[in-house]
Amino acid sequence: MLVVMEHGASPEQIRQVVERIESLGYQARPMPGKQRTAVGLVGNDGCVDSSRLAALPGVKEIIHVPQPYKQVSREWQEEPTVVRLAGGLSIGGKEVVVIAGPCAVESESQILEAARRVRAAGAAVLRGGAFKPRTSPYSFQGLGVEGLRLLAKAREETGLLVVTEAIDPDGVDIVAEYADIIQIGARNMQNFSLLKRAAQAGKPVLLKRGIAATITELLLSAEYLLAGGNEQVILCERGIRGFDTMTRNVFDLTAIPLAHSLTHLPIIADPSHATGIRNKVIPMARAAVAAGADGIMVEVHPSPDMALSDGAQSLDPAQFADLMRQARQIAAAIGRGIADPPSGLVSA
Ligand code: PEP
Ligand code: MN
Repeated sequence: MLVVMEHGASPEQIRQVVERIESLGYQARPMPGKQRTAVGLVGNDGCVDSSRLAALPGVKEIIHVPQPYKQVSREWQEEPTVVRLAGGLSIGGKEVVVIAGPCAVESESQILEAARRVRAAGAAVLRGGAFKPRTSPYSFQGLGVEGLRLLAKAREETGLLVVTEAIDPDGVDIVAEYADIIQIGARNMQNFSLLKRAAQAGKPVLLKRGIAATITELLLSAEYLLAGGNEQVILCERGIRGFDTMTRNVFDLTAIPLAHSLTHLPIIADPSHATGIRNKVIPMARAAVAAGADGIMVEVHPSPDMALSDGAQSLDPAQFADLMRQARQIAAAIGRGIADPPSGLVSA
């Protein structure tokens, strides 16, 4: 439930609303906006008597949020959330952010080379898994903390920000120590103890859509993060499992405009995991930008054929540079641009 204040409501009137909500036994979350202030009532169990709030001075209207998710909804917050990162970079604003790098950090030379090449082509954020959730226990599981150190080294050298995955609650803190953005992978979208821990990590979270998750389920997982106190959340469409085995997953492009109408959170697309096929990544990345994605995340490996994971869907650096040129044109055609790498960047 949202208590919308009159334009020009006084701080005292807002305080009275907060106090009334608290006296009813709920949490109040005041949200100053450009047009007006709203006060969210958190924890509505369906027993709230809204007349106790509607009659207070300065209250314009009471909005009931009908969706099961509340704080992530557009009703709750009309203005888009802009996730602000170091170096002036932000996700969810006018510019499309490109995240690129290998599936996994494999060695110092591999991640540094990947970082230099994606940086030279214009990416703003480096990706690379240090802790890898693998379908088979015999597959490469990642370098762990050593992988995090190598990512930090790549950031130091290139100035790129870093996104990397936390795969369990106890691993969140160490990932948060090194990463600019904590990734929660598709397999963990509904790992609720991981979500609760990530909500407290003090870093933005990139939440990937589960392998067979509905958009409502994705938004409810995001709600865990907001309810836990972290509003810096970026959604990611990465394909869902369908019946056709021709591609690794089915890229649900509609999720992008749908998310934009249902939530204020930004949404990016991952055409690499969505397709699983190298020569399908560029067309789907183009489509994602055209559909209004706030960013794209693309797997790029200095030598894809040597990759320890996901080589078949990884672009080589020249292909990635080509994608960047195309993405710039498409972004420009819809009145957007591609975000520059963070400022204060050392020259690569
Ligand atoms: C990844 O981005 O490295 C990854 C494992 O992706 P997903 O969780 O979408 O499968
Ligand atoms: Mn991968």
